[in-house]
Amino acid sequence: MRQSMTLIPTLREVPADAEVKSHQLLLRAGFIRQTASGVYTYMPLAKRALDKIEKIIREEMEKAGAAEILMPTLQPAELWQESGRWDGYGAELMRMEDRHGREFALGPTHEEVITAIVKDELKSYKRLPLTLYQIQTKFRDEKRPRFGLLRGREFIMKDAYSFHANQESLDLVYDKIYEAYNNIFSRCGLDFRAVLADSGAIGGKDTQEFMVLSEIGEDTIAYSDSSPYAANIEMAEVKRTYERSTEPERSLTKIETPNQKTIEDISSFLEVKSEDCIKSLVFNVDGEFVLILVRGDHEINDIKVKNILQAESVELAEHADIEKLLGCSVGSIGPVQLPSEIKIYADLAIQSMVNAVCGANEEGYHFTGVQPERDFKVDQYADLRFIKEGDPSPDGNGTIHFARGIEVGHIFKLGTKYSDALEAKYLDENGKAQSIIMGCYGIGVSRTFSAIAEQYNDEHGLKWPKNIAPYQVHLIPINMKNEEQKDLAESLYQELLQQGYEVLMDDRIERPGVKFKDADLIGLPIRVTIGKKAADGILEVKLRNSSETFEIHKAELLATIA
Ligand code: ATP
Ligand code: MG
Ligand code: MG
Ligand code: MG
Repeated sequence: MRQSMTLIPTLREVPADAEVKSHQLLLRAGFIRQTASGVYTYMPLAKRALDKIEKIIREEMEKAGAAEILMPTLQPAELWQESGRWDGYGAELMRMEDRHGREFALGPTHEEVITAIVKDELKSYKRLPLTLYQIQTKFRDEKRPRFGLLRGREFIMKDAYSFHANQESLDLVYDKIYEAYNNIFSRCGLDFRAVLADSGAIGGKDTQEFMVLSEIGEDTIAYSDSSPYAANIEMAEVKRTYERSTEPERSLTKIETPNQKTIEDISSFLEVKSEDCIKSLVFNVDGEFVLILVRGDHEINDIKVKNILQAESVELAEHADIEKLLGCSVGSIGPVQLPSEIKIYADLAIQSMVNAVCGANEEGYHFTGVQPERDFKVDQYADLRFIKEGDPSPDGNGTIHFARGIEVGHIFKLGTKYSDALEAKYLDENGKAQSIIMGCYGIGVSRTFSAIAEQYNDEHGLKWPKNIAPYQVHLIPINMKNEEQKDLAESLYQELLQQGYEVLMDDRIERPGVKFKDADLIGLPIRVTIGKKAADGILEVKLRNSSETFEIHKAELLATIA
């Protein structure tokens, strides 16, 4: 490709609203442009890199026995009502109406659609197992789109769904896909780790996430220093929300409620005075305050709330009244039973609450009468939320350390959650109708692309790994007005193309400084410069991941870059 014929709008300045390296560099190197909040255009270079990631994904998915399909983005509300997620998915679901007033969602995921398809087409055990996948644009109205492609509202996902007659078959396919994911992220050159995860809104039991290790990751991982043990600490969401709320410019103490008491006053008052209130927390969620009380038993709530507010001698029974008085949202959770483990449950419940408030997709959240298992999962990982740096690893090997991670993949054993809801059944050997057992497997394709950019860069720009780089070779004739340089560049360009190389030739009439700065920003693995020594057939080669430059004769080029 000739640079004059494509569009690579590089920027010298760091865009003000881009907080993280990958976002900054993808903008500056002309890979992406923002079209709306959390919505991006993939410019020509990004498109090529994404195609490479998708090719790797397709190869590994096919190897794991999955067949590609393409489902619609536009999904009828009825399907989501059947699964219970039309209401349960919450504000993240992008909804719309057609001209006849029929409701639709723009797919954030495709369990409903695929289950409905399979229900009609897979009637017999003889057709199982089956794994289908697609690569497609997804929509999620994220409350806080951020970090460019890392958390978009429109993004590219690979999602796969498997269907089985029994658990053993699901286990086998799950393991195959686990292996495929390891291959995919390795081939992408990523430093990643598979971790135990929480099943969240999709439901189901066994689940693992693939985390790219990065300081800017939104998840916290606890891992053992001497075994493969690693798990996601889901409490990180709560911690982060709390951390944000104490940023100086948005300090809680600075903001006063209508009754002139600060939220922090109320919070600490509550901690001290209300023994029956297991826990209280105040969060600043995008400038909106949320006070959360976790109650110890049924009767306590209203009395305690009165206690908190006694200073004002206001009689209050309803949440709405409390909210009015405090000028913030108030939620309470309880009763929380099982006294010995009460703190864990309280924290889990708070997390669910915060997720609900933050717009994370929580299904069937209950504000009162919280029950472990029904309202949140209780298992070995629950304890992890209280694990500290240096504690013994739960698997008995080594000690625990923490790291930040970017979730690029997530695999689930769903069981019969969706097949039950949509009545997707197959007939077994005895002609008896059984619910189809399912698994689902996601990869954030555009997020993976951005995560690679996050891991591969230096102070000059991006440094793409060979497998992902939009082109392998950047050919740079320094002076396009010099016939010798121009001709040599043209002949090398043709030769490299013939040899199967992907080449970007900077045929622009620009100053050398501009060309080199752009080349560093764009970050192709091999740079070949054609300058003053063109008449002697001498070229300059520089590898993006080394600072060295060396001269070669044009006859040595192919051997040098092979
Ligand atoms: P997160 O915890 O980051 O919100 P998720 O758990 O909601 O992600 P899944 O439902 O597991 O996401 O979706 C599968 C994959 O899609 C994720 O592992 C992630 O790589 C990607 N993904 C999810 N949300 C986004 C987003 N807003 N922007 C880009 N990629 C995303
Ligand atoms: Mg999410
Ligand atoms: Mg997640
Ligand atoms: Mg996930």
